[in-house]
Amino acid sequence: MNPAFLESALFIALLVVVGALLVSALGWTPVGKRLRQTANRRRIEREAELTCPVHGLQREEDLVRLTSGEPLCPHCYKEAVRGYVD
Ligand SMILES: [Zn+2]
Repeated sequence: MNPAFLESALFIALLVVVGALLVSALGWTPVGKRLRQTANRRRIEREAELTCPVHGLQREEDLVRLTSGEPLCPHCYKEAVRGYVD
């Protein structure tokens, strides 16, 4: 095996290991804690946007976009269009 090729492969492996250690070490720092908390807030806000107070959690692709721009639960939209509840 070519020594230059082996040296290049080991150097790339070293970069990958150092990068993985830095990413995992970031999770233990205050910055990592802040990033996790921000991600948690975004996840909860997203779930709240997808949750109908009557019908519960809906899939994003099933929501109906009103002409005003607000998303609406498909069940609520059917009830509004038909004028009655199934
Ligand atoms: Zn609904």
